Amino acid sequence: MPSEVATADRSRCRNCGFEAPGGGDEWIRIEVPKLGRMTQCPNCESTDVITSR
Ligand SMILES: [Zn+2]
Repeated sequence: MPSEVATADRSRCRNCGFEAPGGGDEWIRIEVPKLGRMTQCPNCESTDVITSR
């Protein structure tokens, strides 16, 4: 059923509220030298993204 959506691996931007599946193509991946890989919001370019895993 379409209404039965799994809540696994969803990421959300804390800045603008953008939501997409974690690891999805919607997110921008950036490399930060000290922090490693970070997820960046394509909507507001914030890296304040919550990844629920
Ligand atoms: Zn955002």
